[in-house]
Amino acid sequence: MENINVLINKSRLEKRIDEMAREIEKDYEGKEIVFLGILKGSVPFMWELAKRVKNNVIFEFIEVSSYKGTESTGTVTLHKDIKNSIEGKDVIIIEDIVDTGRTIDFLLTHLKEKGVSSIKIATLLSKPSRRVVELNIDYIGFKIEDKFVVGFGLDYDQNLRNLPYIGYME
Ligand code: 5GP
Repeated sequence: MENINVLINKSRLEKRIDEMAREIEKDYEGKEIVFLGILKGSVPFMWELAKRVKNNVIFEFIEVSSYKGTESTGTVTLHKDIKNSIEGKDVIIIEDIVDTGRTIDFLLTHLKEKGVSSIKIATLLSKPSRRVVELNIDYIGFKIEDKFVVGFGLDYDQNLRNLPYIGYME
């Protein structure tokens, strides 16, 4: 495996996720929230965020993909939809990284058709310079420059998701 440099270490990640949890608690004031994790990359972030939020959090997952290797393909494919009804629920989409914005854009349309009461977006990372779709993201952990990052859920062809930090490859 190529050299991996640390971009955001474990303690910075945890400190920021803790702050995000406080923002969410303030916005949802005791309400139940559905955390909709986008498989597979959001799993570590979703857990770290959910365990810090005092609200009742329902876990749902959806699987989509737009990447092959390190390149975005430009089309979003739905692999696994939500099984339970989320009609009338307050949903936060949990994403590992927002890059072009196409995945979130696709999901916003898809979820509105399911009659949810509200939708917000929480992402651990955002690469604003890569955006092709205008998005309003409610909770952003870290804005990063245009680097291909791995770890903390993010993969390199399905590998490296279990690194406990965010790294980048040269
Ligand atoms: P978007 O649809 O916003 O272009 O892409 C979102 C998805 O692309 C993310 O959920 C993630 O799976 C993948 N992605 C975007 N940038 C990176 C990156 O730097 N590293 C990795 N591992 N995946 C990325």
